[in-house]
Amino acid sequence: MTLSVRLFPAFALFGSALMMNSALAADAPKVSSQQLAPNLYMVKGSGGNIGALLGKDGALVVDAQFAATAPLVKAELERLQSGVQVNTLVNTHFHKDHTDGNAALAGGAKIIAHQAVLSRLQSDTKFNKAGLPTETFSGEKTLQINDQQVLLQTMPVSHTDGDLVVWFKAQNVLHMGDLFFADRFPFIDLNSGGSVAGYIANTKTIIGQINDSTKIIPGHGELMDKAGLQRFLSMMEQTLAEVQAMKAQGLTADQAVAKGLSAQWKKWSWNFITEEKWIRTLYQA
Ligand SMILES: [Zn+2]
Repeated sequence: MTLSVRLFPAFALFGSALMMNSALAADAPKVSSQQLAPNLYMVKGSGGNIGALLGKDGALVVDAQFAATAPLVKAELERLQSGVQVNTLVNTHFHKDHTDGNAALAGGAKIIAHQAVLSRLQSDTKFNKAGLPTETFSGEKTLQINDQQVLLQTMPVSHTDGDLVVWFKAQNVLHMGDLFFADRFPFIDLNSGGSVAGYIANTKTIIGQINDSTKIIPGHGELMDKAGLQRFLSMMEQTLAEVQAMKAQGLTADQAVAKGLSAQWKKWSWNFITEEKWIRTLYQA
């Protein structure tokens, strides 16, 4: 009894320290970067992948991840270029895992987005309004920064109703935001103006605008290329055809989920967009 009383606090302390460490390990975002061209990087952390063009004018940053990750992203940019400040932040769309860090990361620098992003963030009571876009547009916009031209291009409704892609033409690098989920079923936000047909159409448009050497930063997952985007398109077209065939046979959405997609698509399922969620999205197309 005495032994266990004496041991218990020590064990409890040890146990809770272990739990705390593992919780920290699970929760603390890790930020790393991959160089794609001189001064151009893909930065991974928690949330949507970031693109960063560094240089004498400061950093052009595409997407901001979460507020909690922003100090780590800033530290990574500092590691890549000592003393660098964010010059311009671009949002590919309004989702929290791409915009929550806006205020912390931009720190007063201009923030550019599709005009639909501003109204969605303005009406979000939880969004830190210091991170609202300061410039919005629809169509094309060219940024001159660090002796480079960077083209921002808004896209027809697709992942949401306010998507844009970012072309680093000289480097043959394209940031697609959540118009591309690398080797996994995509999230198409039908409640925020997204469209399955629009998503597939935009994928085809972009495939026609890139070549075999293009490096593509997807919204989520590893660096991709044209073959990866074609694989993604093929998956969407074939799974849509499977779900449309089930609908044509009179299956309800629940029955389509119960039947499932053919086995070759199982590996595209992930914790956020499971096969069930993807079937239900396609069923509404
Ligand atoms: Zn998104």
